[in-house]
Amino acid sequence: MTDHTQIYVNGEWVAPSSNDKIEVFNSTTEAVMGTIPAAAADDATKACAAARAAFDGWAATSKEDRVALLNKVHEGLVARADEIATAITAEVGMPLKLSKIIQAGNPAMHFQQAVNILEEFDFDEEVNNSQVVKEPIGVVACITPWNYPLNQITAKVAPALAAGCTVVLKPSEVAPMSAYILAEIIDEAGFPAGVFNMVTGYGPTVGEAMVISDDVDMVSFTGSTRAGKRISELAAQTVKRVSLELGGKSAAIILDDADLTKAIKGTVGACYLNSGQTCTAHTRLLVPEGKYEEAKQIAHDAVSGWTVGDPTEEGIRLGPLASEQHWQRVEEYIQKGIDDGAEVILGGTGKPEGLETGYFVKPTVFGNVDPKSTIAQEEIFGPVMSIITYKDDDEAVAIANDSIYGLAGAVWSGDQDRAMGVAKRMRTGMVDVNGGRFNPDAPFGGYKQSGNGREWGKAGFEEFLETKSIQL
Ligand code: NAD
Repeated sequence: MTDHTQIYVNGEWVAPSSNDKIEVFNSTTEAVMGTIPAAAADDATKACAAARAAFDGWAATSKEDRVALLNKVHEGLVARADEIATAITAEVGMPLKLSKIIQAGNPAMHFQQAVNILEEFDFDEEVNNSQVVKEPIGVVACITPWNYPLNQITAKVAPALAAGCTVVLKPSEVAPMSAYILAEIIDEAGFPAGVFNMVTGYGPTVGEAMVISDDVDMVSFTGSTRAGKRISELAAQTVKRVSLELGGKSAAIILDDADLTKAIKGTVGACYLNSGQTCTAHTRLLVPEGKYEEAKQIAHDAVSGWTVGDPTEEGIRLGPLASEQHWQRVEEYIQKGIDDGAEVILGGTGKPEGLETGYFVKPTVFGNVDPKSTIAQEEIFGPVMSIITYKDDDEAVAIANDSIYGLAGAVWSGDQDRAMGVAKRMRTGMVDVNGGRFNPDAPFGGYKQSGNGREWGKAGFEEFLETKSIQL
């Protein structure tokens, strides 16, 4: 049990003004693994004021000073990687081996990347008689979700601090333990007071207090489209910059000349990673009509190989979902798919045999899914894939784009030029061609209701800058 009783404000660990606690659950055992404070709105407001007071000094620091501190955080994250992976596996359910690489590895990488970009970045540019200067935007409120908890935090906090911004973080109340590890590392690194602050609690209290604060210049949010809309409305009152990384319903288009087995196995990997609790999950598998029967069999066999169980055990590929509430939601979607007449190729409702404790879901594959139906339109965020058939390339693109979301997607083809043509017609922020691997230096973000702005790499760093033109 890890019972945190404090929040981090103005360079100190302090008790929040409310005594309320939030229980954090182990998703495999359903036991309470710790508690965190449910801070009050007032605590968030104070943290924003501390970040405001620290801003001028931090913005004026040299690149070298910032690099030195960011490097210390990177070292701290590397040193505590096992602890981070263990906590997140318990909270979220990702297999431990993968957690070490993704859940603990990515956060260290974000700090390394922020250092590399800062070292090379040119903040000044001459345009005719103007000096165009890039400056840190100010105080950034970072509000983050639970599925890749520390990755999403550090994708914001590292570039924001590197750019010269000060930060108030509200981590997810569902998976907050790794955020405490980061705050401890930042505290030990010796940042000036108020540069980084962390207030734990619920979105409508702590989160909204940050969003409406006059001391905040920018809100960087990752989470559901529902909360993103609410945050945008509130932030509009003070005309803050809002960057949003929201939900997705990504399609993998398998063209008729693709290697079907390779394409389906690749899509299954991109769909079921982290038990489907991934915003970029390729949850709609689009296959040519004539290949449906073959595709069905390949998908069935591929997903059957994803062993479900305790994510701390060797050989387990699918752990539980993060919370009971989320489990209920995913089960309802599976039932809805059945009720709407989709073919159940594998899985279905209820817990997998022998896994009655823990928020486990049967890996499920639906076939002959109507592209207009609920399971093809709404983000399920669980281990559920829908196979949809199409007649020709134009129809495949139309189905892929028939979504309020536009986060990611994929194209598989024997002909790279043809695949590129289709990739360019997809209205999404990211497309993988023939299993092209994830590139952390490339911009990450979505079109349409998947959000605004980009994270990762240089584009992610520039999000935290303002532009000033000085005429000479
Ligand atoms: P969520 O929107 O419920 O919560 C995200 C964060 O916002 C939490 O910290 C929560 O406390 C806070 N919050 C909730 N309501 C708020 C409000 N009114 N004001 C301020 N803050 C508020 O999302 P979640 O369930 O934690 O995460 C899952 C969602 O996140 C999925 O929709 C997923 O697609 C999305 N996501 C997107 C990306 C991306 O990069 N596009 C990455 C990961 C997750």
